[in-house]
Amino acid sequence: MKDSEDVIPHGARLLCDPLHNKGTAFSEVERDALGLRGLLPPHIHTQDEQMARFLENLRNLPDALEKFVALSALHDRNEALFFRVVCDNVDEIMPLIYTPTVGLACQRFGHIFQRPRGMFISINDRGRIAEVLRNWPRKAGIIVVTDGERILGLGDQGANGMGIPVGKLSLYTACAGIDPAICLPVTLDMGTNNETLLNDPYYVGLRRRRVTGAAYDELIDEFISAAREVFPDVIIQFEDFANHNAFRLLERYRDRICTFNDDIQGTASVALAGVLSALRVKGTSLADETFLFLGAGEAATGIADLIVAAMVAQGIAPEAARQRCWLVDSKGLVVKSRDGLAAQKLPYAHEHAPVTDFLSALKALKPTAIVGVAAVGGTFTPEVLRAMADFNERPIVFALSNPTSKAECTAEQAYQGTDGRALFACGSPFAPVEFGGQTLVPRQGNNSYIFPGVGLGAIACGATRITDEMFLAAAHTLASQVTPADLDQGSLFPPLANTREVSARIAVAVAEVAYERGLAGRSRPEDLRELVQSHVYDPHYRRYA
Ligand code: NAD
Repeated sequence: MKDSEDVIPHGARLLCDPLHNKGTAFSEVERDALGLRGLLPPHIHTQDEQMARFLENLRNLPDALEKFVALSALHDRNEALFFRVVCDNVDEIMPLIYTPTVGLACQRFGHIFQRPRGMFISINDRGRIAEVLRNWPRKAGIIVVTDGERILGLGDQGANGMGIPVGKLSLYTACAGIDPAICLPVTLDMGTNNETLLNDPYYVGLRRRRVTGAAYDELIDEFISAAREVFPDVIIQFEDFANHNAFRLLERYRDRICTFNDDIQGTASVALAGVLSALRVKGTSLADETFLFLGAGEAATGIADLIVAAMVAQGIAPEAARQRCWLVDSKGLVVKSRDGLAAQKLPYAHEHAPVTDFLSALKALKPTAIVGVAAVGGTFTPEVLRAMADFNERPIVFALSNPTSKAECTAEQAYQGTDGRALFACGSPFAPVEFGGQTLVPRQGNNSYIFPGVGLGAIACGATRITDEMFLAAAHTLASQVTPADLDQGSLFPPLANTREVSARIAVAVAEVAYERGLAGRSRPEDLRELVQSHVYDPHYRRYA
């Protein structure tokens, strides 16, 4: 394992090294100095020309999966060009390297497989995970790890889930400028219960059913200790673990290592930012709101927990703050009298008569905000929206479930159903809507606004922990980037194209919290923005000679 401080290979090896390869953009001087003469055609292209050529070819491809494959191939041969393409065309490329295309790419992973990226660690590696991790050729600063059990809304994809850590780390680089050289995607192959995959000859993972219980926990524990031993300062982000493991693992490790779960904490932060924007329009404060969640899983309880933390930070008592958040799960309203509630739901199990469905709960509680995170499409019916419009001058309506087919309602339905008064945010992208002579521009509550900046801030200051207070700071920072013009057109988030600047500001806010709380591993410099900027990767080519 080498430090990412940089050894440039020579000759043909350089052309096969995606971190340094520039293809036809190597200059005459570099070609002589690095043993490339004759290995490349004579004409020297600029990176801009290479990008134009790649985009022309990409745009001629027939579908999103083909485009995913072409982008992966570029990623594998020339990382700088890949990230130029992504960064300069965020709106076009993000949906191709992450949701929604990455879902299909995971399902087809074995069929479109060309070369491995990241590390696959399986249950068969028990007892030697540190040794396995030492095979990684560089020093890792950030790991995104999945066990593939709950890939997006697609369930168990086993080792095929690798598409997610790879895609997510690309977003760390694209949206915040985290150096790709320190990014390590990891898939823990614990087996799969997906029969289709077990019977697929091209499946890349172990042909066995999932391990559970002590054997599962032991593997996770060994992985965490090994990762910390081999890469002492590494940040470990858990991604797309099933509900029953996600909360447990976060609880077990959050106070021991530098870790977070984006499905829970990142989602919470972006949703809270959307709420804060909505409050600016309404001219109210958090304590004036009552939230009713449809869904009571990772997203719902994560968001509720952070809303409570935000209220507590404003001086509201924790119990009173929790009282403002209500959950509806597949069995109805979460109330105190219900048996066998999962631990994360208990803080929101309030005194109330049982209610079996969302509309009845809504009519009983008259919330000011509804947040859909149950992954059941169409559940914000015209009746639900009508009731929200009757109770509220400006109802807050967040339809966050993904993919688009699972959205609780479309943007158009939200505006139509509330006479254009809804303060709306979505989990999937929706086009602008014409309503009452105005163009309303709904924006996605995309986690990519938050986690890249949190990661960058943590790396920059050498954070030893990632805390909810940091996600709170990230939410406030994101909300502060929403302009009055955004709000006027119904947008509760800034344009996605602004993520680089948003991430830099979030990174500063996160580092600020780390320094205040004694959770930074490096001494504090005078200028935090400068510190953050010094860790930002620039995908424009560097000169090697
Ligand atoms: P999860 O599996 O942890 O939770 C789903 C919850 O929905 C569970 O509590 C379940 O009981 C409940 N549920 C299922 N069917 C229901 C029904 N018919 N009525 C009421 N409740 C029902 O999943 P999660 O990680 O919380 O994600 C939920 C959804 O939110 C997904 O679609 C996901 O894509 C989306 N999400 C969006 C964002 C975002 O927009 N930024 C971020 C994270 C998750």
